[in-house]
Amino acid sequence: MTTIASNLQAVRDAMAVAATEAGRAPDDISLLAVSKTFAPEAIREACRAGQTRFAESYVQEALHKIAALHDLPLEWHYIGPIQSNKTRAIAEHFAWVHSVDRVKTAERLSVQRPAHLPPLQVCMQVNISGEASKSGVPPGEAAQLAMAIAQLPHLSLRGLMAVPEPGDDVNAQRAAFSQLRELFEQLIRQGLQLDTLSMGMSHDFAAAIAEGATMVRVGTAIFGDRTYHKETT
Ligand SMILES: *Cc1c(COP(=O)(O)O)cnc(C)c1O
Repeated sequence: MTTIASNLQAVRDAMAVAATEAGRAPDDISLLAVSKTFAPEAIREACRAGQTRFAESYVQEALHKIAALHDLPLEWHYIGPIQSNKTRAIAEHFAWVHSVDRVKTAERLSVQRPAHLPPLQVCMQVNISGEASKSGVPPGEAAQLAMAIAQLPHLSLRGLMAVPEPGDDVNAQRAAFSQLRELFEQLIRQGLQLDTLSMGMSHDFAAAIAEGATMVRVGTAIFGDRTYHKETT
């Protein structure tokens, strides 16, 4: 077995343990492999080990990989910051976007989604309290943004995404994920049809699963450590 294949197996096993401990069915949680900074060959290897859903954070880099891997039946998710001049590429080349946090961005994505494709599947990124990053809609404005996105014809609003402040304390991890789940349940009570809670990364996916994650986004634990580079275009 290659390293990527055995890492994938270890992540799947740990996800199943976390699900079972939480009294949940392991099949109710899907694994998104975060392949940013890794070469197409690493993605091919993960695909040979049964992984089909991949996530990217940098548009130019992703477009190159999507083109290079066109022969594979992969589902691409965009999880990075969304600049206005990148919305068209995202709308044309991805199945899902997890990082929508403004009405303007959502409107552009809807207008630019090609008519021959199914609606773009959307999660709103929420800036849950204590989050270091500035991305994400404040929780108090989430309902308003959700109602606006739900009206857009070429988007399908599926749920919420968050990136809590990193830390090793499991109770703190769970408290942050619990906030996102409570907001999710509140929006459902307000009439929105949501089914996706995108939360949990390499260091905290077990806590996220305990708090109700339906999709975890795991990079390092599958592909290894990343060398960061800044996108220039
Ligand atoms: C990079 C990234 C991940 C994956 O993080 P790991 O710690 O490598 O698992 C998940 N979500 C988002 C939004 C990311 O940018």
